[in-house]
Amino acid sequence: MSETTTKTSKFKFKAEINQLLDILVHSLYTNREIFLRELISNASDALDKLRFESNRGTEIIDNDLPLEITIGYDEKKKLLTVADTGVGMTRDEIIKNIGTIAKSGSADFLKQLSEHKDDANNIIGKFGVGFYSVFMVAEKVVIKSRSFKPDAEPIEWISDGAGSFQVKTIDENFKRGTLIEIHLKEDAKEFAEKFRLEQIVNQHSKFISFPIKIDGEQINKTTALWREPKSNIKKEDYVDFYKSISYDSEEPLLTIHVSVDAPIQFSSLMFIPKKNFDVFGWNRDDYGLDLYVRRVLIQHKNKDLLPEYLSFVKGIVDSEDLPLNISRETLQEDVIFHKISESVTKQVLSHLEKLAKNEPEKYAEFWKEHGKIFKMGYADYANKDKYMELLRFNSSFNEDEKEITSLAEYVERMKKDQKEIYYIVGASREAINIDPHLEIFKAKGVEVLYLYEPADEFVITSVLKYKDYDFKSVDQADLDKLKKLEDLEEEKDEKEKLSSDDELHFSSLISRMKEILGDRVTEVKVSERLKESPAILINPEDGMSASMQKILQVMNKDTSLPKRSMEINKDSKLIRNLLKVFKADNKDPYIESVTEQLYESALLLEGYLTDPHKLVNQINKLLEDSSDWYTNLKKME
Ligand code: ADP
Ligand code: MG
Repeated sequence: MSETTTKTSKFKFKAEINQLLDILVHSLYTNREIFLRELISNASDALDKLRFESNRGTEIIDNDLPLEITIGYDEKKKLLTVADTGVGMTRDEIIKNIGTIAKSGSADFLKQLSEHKDDANNIIGKFGVGFYSVFMVAEKVVIKSRSFKPDAEPIEWISDGAGSFQVKTIDENFKRGTLIEIHLKEDAKEFAEKFRLEQIVNQHSKFISFPIKIDGEQINKTTALWREPKSNIKKEDYVDFYKSISYDSEEPLLTIHVSVDAPIQFSSLMFIPKKNFDVFGWNRDDYGLDLYVRRVLIQHKNKDLLPEYLSFVKGIVDSEDLPLNISRETLQEDVIFHKISESVTKQVLSHLEKLAKNEPEKYAEFWKEHGKIFKMGYADYANKDKYMELLRFNSSFNEDEKEITSLAEYVERMKKDQKEIYYIVGASREAINIDPHLEIFKAKGVEVLYLYEPADEFVITSVLKYKDYDFKSVDQADLDKLKKLEDLEEEKDEKEKLSSDDELHFSSLISRMKEILGDRVTEVKVSERLKESPAILINPEDGMSASMQKILQVMNKDTSLPKRSMEINKDSKLIRNLLKVFKADNKDPYIESVTEQLYESALLLEGYLTDPHKLVNQINKLLEDSSDWYTNLKKME
């Protein structure tokens, strides 16, 4: 042993650890017992890693030690110990692993923790800072550890959780693994009582797959729940198991337990949580199923068993057919692994289909929480049919924005001869409801899907079709096709017709408007789709919808305006008045102001406001004029 390593070295905790410790020690008093769950889970991870190394034929010291966790206690000394025979840690590892928060986003984590102290129980485990929770109950912690690597020396780590820790090499016959000595605070001495310890292990660590021993007696069952026949398993066992792997305090929304025999053999136990855990987006990488081979954990949170759009699924897959010594690197190329992954994906999708069919309300809950992620599955061509049936939208048929509609339901309600599924993109139901593009659809009673997120349109344009029906944005809908669809029973009362003389003037007005707008529009014409609004911009049918153009423009930093035609509602009061002005003086500047403003307003509605100053100036000018007229009219001089 060299001199430099035998002497004690002192280290300061990183700033974020100190913050964390401060919160843990000074403000968390409920649920303190979860520290034991965290220590046992670390011990179990260390044992899993050891078994993995051993399966690969790595050289390991003290190879005859049984793989187990031992809990010791001394009530009088207020002492608790948790020991494992896992991989242990070298000096460098202990300094690195216990002293920093490994995951990025620790600042976010600390914020969440200080704001949601009641939920610390869930937050701590999810964030990989479990070890430090021991300082909720300890005034001093000593870790002794020896790595499985043949040349590693045993080391000791000591800290009182107040700013620093010390590390030294110990000259003991310390065997492979880790021993954690917890010197309990006066108010935490209950954690040195056998009864209390057994109770905590039963509550939080029931499904640990290594023996947990107290006084030489094993207190957990170590059976792999997923291997048991379904008929033997009680609902509460599933729920407990789910909670133990997810740190969720609620029951899962859906439990999927399958055993597949052909063509490959595997069992899987998966859960869909009630809530989307990642609402804050700070845990995006924290997903994946645990992969076991014949009950041995090969990889924690494998990201390739399920596609990313199903990343909300928690659980495990246990294979009979993969080799035990398979490395994580070669997994992805393994044919059997691929077959398993395909099959697991199909299982999840068909369970969701069943849920949608048999328990639509529960499915709606699922959609509300996980729909956003699920939608991203449009690229899973192998499962496209299933995926399409599982999509949900809010639509004009629904009473409010909470209700959802499947594509199958939309098609069932389609008008006779309707060949397209119409959609509109907008920020909210209110915004969409006043969009002039919808007027003809409302008049005809044609259902329109409401898309509230830009991603929704990507989904729809990527899948192209549902069965034989194309998706079509309302701003590109072909008027002839719409006109052919039968009208609603209650036809609106006919508008007063223009005289043939006025018709001629009207055509000239339209030419005048085109002249005013110039190249900004392809043409100006009479609208047959508007019922209320005075004017609207229409995209060419073969082009892109307005919202798609916008997305691409943002991506390409393009600020030009796409060219579209402007349609005028001949029956609107504004246009009728404009016609009167035009007949009196076809060069009246008022025509120009109104035409400009109609164009700008239409742009504004579609989210293309290029020049707010111009728009506001124009409105102010019109307001000024109208205030003159108004005061004249009311004889207010
Ligand atoms: P997490 O378990 O999520 O990584 P923890 O704070 O619980 O976060 O533990 C930090 C790290 O310390 C672990 O990742 C592991 O490398 C190491 N560690 C903790 N306990 C043990 C143990 N009993 N044996 C070996 N390594 C351990
Ligand atoms: Mg841990």
